[in-house]
Amino acid sequence: MMRTYHLSLGSNMGDRASILRSGLDRLKAVGQVRKVSAFYETKPWGNPDQADFLNAAAEFQTDLLPEGLLDTIKKIEMEAGRDLTAERWGPRPLDIDILLQGTLRLSTPRLTIPHPHLADRDFVLAPLSEIAPEVEVPGTGKTAAELWAGRQASGR
Ligand code: ADP
Ligand code: MG
Repeated sequence: MMRTYHLSLGSNMGDRASILRSGLDRLKAVGQVRKVSAFYETKPWGNPDQADFLNAAAEFQTDLLPEGLLDTIKKIEMEAGRDLTAERWGPRPLDIDILLQGTLRLSTPRLTIPHPHLADRDFVLAPLSEIAPEVEVPGTGKTAAELWAGRQASGR
């Protein structure tokens, strides 16, 4: 069964745009990339003492279940040179997160969908609302565009 996922991609090491594009190419081996946002230059989150990120969102269709897609994502991140033992929120050539899978709500030790920080990260909401303004974020009763507008209005 085909599932539609919304993904977030980020890079802050090396040739960031090429790394994002090659991550998207690698995803094409296991599904179809339907939409890709612009690449957004953003300030690092969590640990500010590192280079700026390039962030994007993508709509991706695949038969993979969420756990299988996470396994694939971890392989793609490693191939991009990511050291998975490095500190959380530290510099990384490639980070791919699963934001949404339709109306699914899932919480296991490995995987939480919708992504728990979706609604408080500008670098996620800006590209997501560009490609999927009307997508509803389960648990919030709001669309991506509404969440993004709300954050802009609050001035953070
Ligand atoms: P972060 O993305 O928070 O900067 P990592 O990419 O290192 O950090 O992810 C750490 C772990 O978060 C992953 O190994 C994965 O098991 C878990 N995780 C939980 N929910 C998700 C999700 N929706 N998408 C991707 N990873 C997730
Ligand atoms: Mg991640």
